[in-house]
Amino acid sequence: MAERLHEGELIFRGIPASAGVCRGNILVLDRPRHDIQRRELADGEVARELDRFEEALAQTRLQLLDVQRKVIESLGAQEGSIFDAQLLVLEDPVLIEETTRLIRTQKVNVEHAFHTVVNRYLDALAHIQDEYLRERAADVRDVTARVLDNLLGRNQELDLRHLREPCIIIAHDLTPSQTAQMDRKNVLGFATDVGSTTSHTAIMARSLRIPAVVGLKDVSQRLRSGQFALLDGFNGVLIVNPTDQTLFEYGQLVRRQATLAEKLREVIPLPAVTLDNHRVPLLANVEQAADAQTVRESGAEGIGLFRTEYLFLNRDTPPDEEEQFEAYRQAAITLRPLPVVIRTLDLGGDKLLSTLAPPELNPFLGWRAIRFCLQQPDIFRAQLRAILRASAEGNVKIMYPMISGLDELKQANALLTRCKEELRAENKPFDDHIEIGAMIETPSAALIADVLAQHVGFFSIGTNDLIQYALAVDRMNEKIAHLYEPTHPAILRLIRATVDAAHARGIRVAVCGEMAGDPVLVPLLIGLGVDELSAAPPLIAPVKYLVRRMKISEARELTASALQSDSAADIAARFEAFARRAAPSLFEK
Ligand code: PEP
Ligand code: MG
Repeated sequence: MAERLHEGELIFRGIPASAGVCRGNILVLDRPRHDIQRRELADGEVARELDRFEEALAQTRLQLLDVQRKVIESLGAQEGSIFDAQLLVLEDPVLIEETTRLIRTQKVNVEHAFHTVVNRYLDALAHIQDEYLRERAADVRDVTARVLDNLLGRNQELDLRHLREPCIIIAHDLTPSQTAQMDRKNVLGFATDVGSTTSHTAIMARSLRIPAVVGLKDVSQRLRSGQFALLDGFNGVLIVNPTDQTLFEYGQLVRRQATLAEKLREVIPLPAVTLDNHRVPLLANVEQAADAQTVRESGAEGIGLFRTEYLFLNRDTPPDEEEQFEAYRQAAITLRPLPVVIRTLDLGGDKLLSTLAPPELNPFLGWRAIRFCLQQPDIFRAQLRAILRASAEGNVKIMYPMISGLDELKQANALLTRCKEELRAENKPFDDHIEIGAMIETPSAALIADVLAQHVGFFSIGTNDLIQYALAVDRMNEKIAHLYEPTHPAILRLIRATVDAAHARGIRVAVCGEMAGDPVLVPLLIGLGVDELSAAPPLIAPVKYLVRRMKISEARELTASALQSDSAADIAARFEAFARRAAPSLFEK
């Protein structure tokens, strides 16, 4: 429920996803769900509706054939055959005959008839025990949504690249790829019904410095385009029709933030070293090569996580070796001699690419990251070769995501060795001693860290995933966001076990999940023995500001006592008090 504080002012509270305050008119995006109206047909209209049905089926068929052709060209016949199942749905006699019958007998519009039949059909599929048939439901849903879009004359893609004027976007949900292509000039901020702070949409918003609030429940249904609103990404609040008093108070918040920004600018060129002289290398997470310059300006000491999947999103065919080489090389050259840790493709989860991977029931537990790459050796090989070639031009390191067992690591390393041999034979330069790292983001990887440590030069803990997999809490689901607890005793133990195993083997451990950019949690991470941190560029200065005001000895003491605690809330409260004492200005929101 929204709160109504003053006449006309509506306040919606959600989850803060990206800092900053903005105000402006809102633009509510169409919900992907189809709101289908029922309309009675006059006698003469039936034939026309039947024609419209045929046209929509034919149009959908052409669209699917076009996508299929592009996939076959880029990936081969086997991948293209995924669309055969979807094309068959368009010829399904039950769907076609039943829809036609409803139009004729009940004299209703085609959208309504088709929607009714599809829903019955999906219902029936959901109750069938056969796994294959249940999986077909995804194809049916996909294709029939396309048919409805065509009937309703709707554009399937929301185009956030070309907005006519500045606005705050309100949507039920946004995908990471939609966020990545937002027109920065005209998107003042965004707010969504669903989502959480560690969804890739939220991560992208922070990188782009777009204020964002997620988890606002049904806000997209309650507002209409053109209403004036204020979005507070610090506190996770959307205020529609703000009063003069509210605008005045927010003016003060913005002024306080400007003063803090001034203080933060001063620490950018300084080293991240605690009061008792402990160095904490701070690196940056980026999503594209063009961010490399921002990394230098943020005061980071290199790139600790280059999320390469954004090179693959928002396009029909994957980038080839040359295109990837150019991107990695550009980052390596811009930053050399600073390190650039390039993570191999982490497609899957919430970063879906329908042309490469079909929809799954549990995408975060499915065909994701290294699992996908090992089964798509052509795609993986092109990326490994591109990274290796870029290593000749700067301080490049390679890192594999979502390792859950030793075999995956060995297979990836074997393919890397083959790529090196090929490049040697082709006389293409690369760094033969390129450092290899494994992400620790599954509980299994943390528990066998001693084994994995024998095959890599460093670890980087992906806490976003480690938390979701260890606590069985979907990182995207706002309904269980309260259970997503970075200070859960189980998480502390997994991080500690990873650090101990790595240090016993003499390799270092970074953290590149969102915990590393949270000033409250940084003392905990370094207290647990983490050697390096990597966070979005805008978070580097606040973390450095805090590190320079705290003592590692005190962080270690507090961590030792936290490891004895059985309460996530208690641990979080102790570290929050610690960070607030060390750097109160960071908390003036
Ligand atoms: C993580 O899981 O913490 C991580 C850094 O990877 P991503 O957020 O891209 O899944
Ligand atoms: Mg991850």
